[in-house]
Amino acid sequence: MDYEPVIGLEVHCQLKTKTKIFCSDPYEFGAPANTLAGPVTLGLPGCLPVLNEKVLEMAIMAGLALNCKIAKITKFDRKHYFYPDLPKGYQISQYDQPYAIDGYIEIKKLNQEAVKVRIKRIHMEEDAGKLLHSYHSNETVSFVDLNRAGAPLLEIVTEPDLRTSEDAWLFLQTLRSIIRSLGISDANMEEGSLRCDANVSVHKPNEPLGTRVEIKNLNSFKAVRNAIDYEIERQISILESGGSVIQSTVLWDADKKQTRLMRTKEDAEDYRYFPDPDLPVFEISPAFVESIRKTMPELPNQKRERYIRDYNLPEYDAIVLTRDTDIANYFEEAIQYSNDPKKTSNWVKDEILGVLNKKDISINNFPCTPKRLGNLIKLLNQGKITQRIAKQVFEHIYEEDLDPEQIIEKYDYKPVDYNQLEAVIEKVFQSFPEQVQQILTGKDKVKGFLVGQIMKETRGQAPPEEVHNLIEKKLSSLKKG
Ligand code: ADP
Ligand code: MG
Repeated sequence: MDYEPVIGLEVHCQLKTKTKIFCSDPYEFGAPANTLAGPVTLGLPGCLPVLNEKVLEMAIMAGLALNCKIAKITKFDRKHYFYPDLPKGYQISQYDQPYAIDGYIEIKKLNQEAVKVRIKRIHMEEDAGKLLHSYHSNETVSFVDLNRAGAPLLEIVTEPDLRTSEDAWLFLQTLRSIIRSLGISDANMEEGSLRCDANVSVHKPNEPLGTRVEIKNLNSFKAVRNAIDYEIERQISILESGGSVIQSTVLWDADKKQTRLMRTKEDAEDYRYFPDPDLPVFEISPAFVESIRKTMPELPNQKRERYIRDYNLPEYDAIVLTRDTDIANYFEEAIQYSNDPKKTSNWVKDEILGVLNKKDISINNFPCTPKRLGNLIKLLNQGKITQRIAKQVFEHIYEEDLDPEQIIEKYDYKPVDYNQLEAVIEKVFQSFPEQVQQILTGKDKVKGFLVGQIMKETRGQAPPEEVHNLIEKKLSSLKKG
């Protein structure tokens, strides 16, 4: 009997507030080291934490978007451990009364029913600083940067509902797009504003769940997939050879593509959690929750349904376009100009996403702006350019950062007019009498050859429909004659 993998994720998401969770120190990624660390961040004596209201608002918004119950009473606890990036010797987190519990996210694959992945809890906590290990004057030295200490985090914990690395990947993608659509975080794995730990175990179906191993240090989507797959294989081979899995925390090494033991698993008791006496237990009123619910933007799954309903797009298109809020916004702006949702969708998913990927740039920095794409499609639909030319114009737009009209002018792209086209067809028929004869004797396929020649003669600027009509006209006159 085969082993079944079981996966649960713990995701940290850094909230995009102006100031930290418990004080007015600003936080931004990439600032010079230790310039954003005032007395509260440093844990100096006599300083007291005060909860940033914006953090609570964003946290509740995330809780609602993930279909959680929002607690009426919640509190903060101290989680104790020593590390040089943690000045107070404890992290302010939430232990037994998280502000949100019992939610779910629906993950959707093409032509399949959406699957619910349960969210066990979400809690608010402060981030730690960062250690930088380096080599300096023949010595190994470590630096500490406390800028990030006290930055606001949400920790989102799933139930062990996932079964494959692919589903874990899809869950994270879906979560990221929800968070981004709420505008509460950049949710960027590379910059650390989205971090994921994966808990992995294997068991035989119908038997109790196996012992889990927690994988840390997953800082890209690829790492999440590779590390989970590696760990599944590792555990299966341990069990197959008669051994047993030890509950532990491991680190993923993306270069070596393997995990390395960090520690055998600590228990919650080890952290000596207790309620933080500096922060009172507090109430979240239902009215406050409702006021936040009213300001919630459209979520990706709602957007997906709307694209199918209002723009008549196939499900596949709607999934691709709504995976990323920036892409969705681009698409919606472009159709303001093109007035053609399906064609715009095709261009975005078949052309633009590929170019962005190849050039490794974001859609917001793409020289072919939504307006330019929309106008390009409009020109195409008006018959001012052909599909083939449109692709060339598109390439020039992003290479040269010009409008479609400017490119058409510059390269003299214009559709061949009717009279010109008749002359070209006449010429092609003259030049290839053999092929014409074959068509007349029923070899319809050869028509494609003639079309190709006509396109060559016209630099691809002949409208295909017109070419087709004129060929038929010419052929029938030959048949009669
Ligand atoms: P604890 O309370 O010991 O921290 P939790 O039950 O909160 O553990 O689970 C922590 C994470 O581990 C969650 O993401 C959960 O889904 C996952 N998890 C729990 N049990 C397993 C298991 N047997 N296999 C894989 N993941 C698991
Ligand atoms: Mg935590």
